[in-house]
Amino acid sequence: MLRAAMRHPATRLLHVLLSVPVLASAMVIAASPTAHAQAAAPTPLVVVIDPGHGGAINPAQPDMPFDPGAIAPSNGLMEKDVTLAVSLRLRALLRQDDVNAILTRSDDRSLDVQQRSATANNNGAAVFVSVHFNSFTDGGPNGSLVLYPKDTDLSFAQTMSDAMGAYLKPLGVVNDGVVLRDNWWIHTEMPTVTVEPAFLSNTREASLIATPGFQQVLAMSIRDGIEKYAPQLLQRKAQIVAWNTAHPEHPVTPATTALSVHAAAPASAGWFGTLVRYTLVLALFAAVVRWPRTAWVMVRADLRFTRATIDRVVVRRNAKRRRRRAVALRALEAHAQRFARPHHVYDELF
Ligand SMILES: [Zn+2]
Repeated sequence: MLRAAMRHPATRLLHVLLSVPVLASAMVIAASPTAHAQAAAPTPLVVVIDPGHGGAINPAQPDMPFDPGAIAPSNGLMEKDVTLAVSLRLRALLRQDDVNAILTRSDDRSLDVQQRSATANNNGAAVFVSVHFNSFTDGGPNGSLVLYPKDTDLSFAQTMSDAMGAYLKPLGVVNDGVVLRDNWWIHTEMPTVTVEPAFLSNTREASLIATPGFQQVLAMSIRDGIEKYAPQLLQRKAQIVAWNTAHPEHPVTPATTALSVHAAAPASAGWFGTLVRYTLVLALFAAVVRWPRTAWVMVRADLRFTRATIDRVVVRRNAKRRRRRAVALRALEAHAQRFARPHHVYDELF
């Protein structure tokens, strides 16, 4: 029946006419790669990290509050400095995964809770993590803790606690689980946790917190907690990697996205753009009707390519992550051995 219809000259003419827009649209798209790039490029997702406390005594800014947070009695480490150090490392790690990681502060300044929450809400963050360190009046208490403000944040807190435990337990920092703290961060509109990875008031943990190796391991553990809870971050990374492979001339990176926030919106293509879009839709429809088998084969090939790309990215990421973790742990061990004699605290550790 169909074959009989195909042989009819009028039907054949219709098919030829319908296939013309396919070629025309393909040529228009090929001739305007910029417009195509702006239409479909994946946007990096946003994560907001909040380094707790901050602010220095500055004669030039007498109004700025001095909020050091906890101060370690054993080595004088200030909470505001280590929360910033860990957050900067965390930002770098997330950017490696094509996440647009934004800090509420990237230098030594004081911010109130409203300003910190506003950074998360105004940037449409997927998740919000506030970084603190714990402290107590005597040096006894130790271990890592994750606080969460609402019942709906419990699963994020649990995921974060497990991820931190996996990295910190081998270093002798016990996992004290999660605690509901319903008077903190109640105004953030996305999944929110506060991490308290160790005690500055505990001599052994304060010595650990002071080492760059520990700060890096900590940042890696928080990164893992974020990415395990929000799998859309790595899915978006896979899309960005696939896009950048296909469009090396218009790569998407978190840095360029952050810069382009204040850029002017691209000018509209006007009636010509609309015409091209309508032609494209019509042409695609005609092509599917005209060559259904070819269309199906192409869709299947495209799906296979996408799945293979995602698989490759995940396998490579896991291998890279294992290597980086091993390197960081080796560096920490080397650091500990170098200082083993003068600082007896490391003797307990390794
Ligand atoms: Zn604090």
